[in-house]
Amino acid sequence: MALLDTQQLFIHGRRVDASSGETFDTINPADGSLLACVQQASQEDVDRAVVSAREGQKIWAAMSGMQRSRILLRAVALLRERNDEIAHLETLDTGKPISETQSVDIVTGADSLEYYAGLAPAIEGKQIPLREDSFVYTRREPLGVIGAIGAWNYPIQIACWKSAPALAAGNAVVYKPSEVTPLTTMLLAEIFTEAGLPDGVFNVVQGDGRVGEMLTQHADIDKITFTGEAGTGKKVMASAAGSTLKEVTMELGGKSPLIVFDDADLDRAADAAMMANFYSSGQVCTNGTRVFVQRSVKEAFEAKIVERVNRIKAGDPLDPAVNFGPLVSFEHLEKVTSYLELGKQEGARLLAGGNRMIDGDSGYDYAKGAWAEPTVFTDCSDDMRIVREEIFGPVMSILAFDDEEEVIRRANDTRYGLAAGLFSEGLNRAHRVIQRLEAGICWINTWGDSPAEMPVGGYKESGIGRENGLSSLDQYTQIKSIQVEM
Ligand code: NAD
Repeated sequence: MALLDTQQLFIHGRRVDASSGETFDTINPADGSLLACVQQASQEDVDRAVVSAREGQKIWAAMSGMQRSRILLRAVALLRERNDEIAHLETLDTGKPISETQSVDIVTGADSLEYYAGLAPAIEGKQIPLREDSFVYTRREPLGVIGAIGAWNYPIQIACWKSAPALAAGNAVVYKPSEVTPLTTMLLAEIFTEAGLPDGVFNVVQGDGRVGEMLTQHADIDKITFTGEAGTGKKVMASAAGSTLKEVTMELGGKSPLIVFDDADLDRAADAAMMANFYSSGQVCTNGTRVFVQRSVKEAFEAKIVERVNRIKAGDPLDPAVNFGPLVSFEHLEKVTSYLELGKQEGARLLAGGNRMIDGDSGYDYAKGAWAEPTVFTDCSDDMRIVREEIFGPVMSILAFDDEEEVIRRANDTRYGLAAGLFSEGLNRAHRVIQRLEAGICWINTWGDSPAEMPVGGYKESGIGRENGLSSLDQYTQIKSIQVEM
């Protein structure tokens, strides 16, 4: 029996039944138990959500920036009040340890909403003088209805990151969470309504890629914002262009380099490499999975990594002392374990892990869930598939390098360009190298933070546009220029 009631859709300010008659299951990946059956949206439901969004958007856009700001700030307060309850549900649905969801997922989502709530009244145009008797003024107007499609790794955070700038700028949103983790977005929708968002301004349609396609092809959606794999992103972009030439923002995958120079603080570098590979069981888009280590410090660095991997505490994700959870699903476990086998076949040397996790010392029954061991391969080479392809699991690849030019070339030798980072105590070297790395999100002597103020997004096949930061507001407004003759 499922733990929760059947999950509906959220349209026009309330939970409603889908018309498809079709449902799908969402499970707890820690132990395989059934959490809920979820109703899959039909084309009719998506149409209903878009009509509602169009209606709601007119009311929302007619409000002043200050009014929109106050409503969004109420939602921020409600999110923070319900932090622990939402974190609990997120942990059940994703398998991420409660120590993560309670302190990061909702907090960073609320931060983004708060940041853009503050900016809502500051959206303004320009005045451009032409001649004595003529000038132009510009207005930044909302785009209208935004179709938003989320990934499964940060369900409520991604929903907040996408809706925050869109709503602040006066748009309405039709949101499709990943079918793998559909639960918490429904709580966000309820919170928005309780905060005073007009009906229809934030709707949730549940379902798999078919529902995503209904959004990308919809004639009355003005823009698509997407987070997911680069391969899906290409389909989304083609479909969005083919229907009505919609604008797109894309947050896609990565295979990011983390470079450790011989003058680095090796403890800090090792801590960061752990964060960049094992936090959320490695299911983070910005992960630094290609760890390039200068040859003279490689052995010392490896010893620090092995010592830290031995200290990882796996177990019941609801236990606050646990810092390592399962993968998000059994399907994903299959993908990740196939890469573990591939790494062994390709000749990488295993320093830790390398298998599905079946038993451990905590007494937890890992065999029931989708658990993979934290794994470290070393002596990897650039052409190995474990080094080139995004695994999206707890798998670190260590590669040796000799000099700066070489590591810059090798770090950039990828179709991705999401994140990059380096550890060096040399000020000049750090800035010289980071400026030549082809990535949208870069870190020097740290790894992983993406605060609301920091624009994040990818170079190359890792994305289009940015989330967070001031520039994201531009992606949810269009400029109208008005010439005046006196
Ligand atoms: P995915 O591409 O499989 O799915 C993402 C979403 O797209 C889901 O909601 C899915 O239902 C939907 N979808 C599938 N087919 C579709 C189609 N044809 N048209 C429209 N929508 C469709 O990705 P995932 O497995 O959920 O997430 C993991 C990926 O997301 C990784 O590659 C990761 O790097 C990336 N990611 C990127 C960021 C970032 O900010 N750059 C953040 C989180 C995750």
